[in-house]
Amino acid sequence: MARISRLIAHVDMDSFFTAVEVLDDPSLAGKPVMVGADPRGGRGRGVVSAASYEARRFGVHSAMPVSRAFRLCPRGVFLPGRMERYQEVSGQVMTVLSGFTPVMEQISVDEAFLDLTGCGRLLGGPGETGVKIKKAVKAATGLTASVGLGPNKLAAKIASDLEKPDGLVVVAQPDVGVFLSSLPIRRLWGIGPKTEEALKKKFRVATVGELAGIPPERLEKEYGLMGRYLHQRANGVDDDPVGGDEEAKSIGRETTFDSDTSDQKQIHKTLVYLCDRVAGRLRASGAAGRTVTLKLRYESFETHTFRQTLAAPTDVYREILELAEMLFQNNYMAGRKVRLLGVSVSNFSDSPELGLFDETGKNREKQRKVELAVDKVRGKYGKRSVLRAGEL
Ligand SMILES: [Mg+2]
Repeated sequence: MARISRLIAHVDMDSFFTAVEVLDDPSLAGKPVMVGADPRGGRGRGVVSAASYEARRFGVHSAMPVSRAFRLCPRGVFLPGRMERYQEVSGQVMTVLSGFTPVMEQISVDEAFLDLTGCGRLLGGPGETGVKIKKAVKAATGLTASVGLGPNKLAAKIASDLEKPDGLVVVAQPDVGVFLSSLPIRRLWGIGPKTEEALKKKFRVATVGELAGIPPERLEKEYGLMGRYLHQRANGVDDDPVGGDEEAKSIGRETTFDSDTSDQKQIHKTLVYLCDRVAGRLRASGAAGRTVTLKLRYESFETHTFRQTLAAPTDVYREILELAEMLFQNNYMAGRKVRLLGVSVSNFSDSPELGLFDETGKNREKQRKVELAVDKVRGKYGKRSVLRAGEL
């Protein structure tokens, strides 16, 4: 069956927090502005959560310890941040975007995907559509956004980042793999600095094209589930839908810490707990889903959700945990305290299980049998009768 080609846009506000600060205090325009912890003359603790493009020229970037930022840019303007005000402007941006299509997925305070498939008659070609989105955001808020358009979320997300700030990039190439091939692997969505380093060492790859050429079995052997993903993504494959009402059809658990924490062991333990319970609930209701979503709320109440879609639906704890951990590692801003973590599985599919007969499929079935046995014991003796290794 021929697939209708999609048109997805990724809209990302340019240096959002600092742009709002400049908007509200024009005397800051052109200055290196940083939002985050108080630098206390270089002895401050905590991190920079946003840096203006002027500050980035000094080498400052978000998630950098504020003491380091102060050494790099002592004459910069350091501001504590006003989350409520950012949320307010974010609301204006999202209202504008939702005017373009009802199929929209906000992924953070200043980023969203839009599914514009079939909107061509109203909006014009992809380039024209991108210009209209940028103009509408600017008119409503006075701020600039970078927009990427392409046949899937992967292409759109990478494209929006390529010409920041005030960028507009259209991936006209239907083969996303070709568009990606010359880019450095770091550009690939989901590859953080740690994974980048490991891939360079192990496989001697620098570009996405080189990564795409590595046999998927080798990547899978090395990284498990994530290896399969890397292969798909490097080849431009991503059919993750833009989630609108997806939230309604999901099974999930979340937990708020007694006191906000940046302790990695405690965070890991909590992810283990959440994934275990979510997998159990999926099996109990006979559901399996393809999309794993991680919800991460910092102590500032800033909330992000990150999601990743599997090739086949799962109800297996280990697979859900692997993805949740990967999403956390690739997106967590080091040093920041976490207030809440949530894990959910959605995108329930009734398509037949893929790969049942290959190695991964067999391993999953084995794992599944073990977990079903655990469900039985728990049904008899209570939830805490079997604990996961990471929970102990
Ligand atoms: Mg942004």
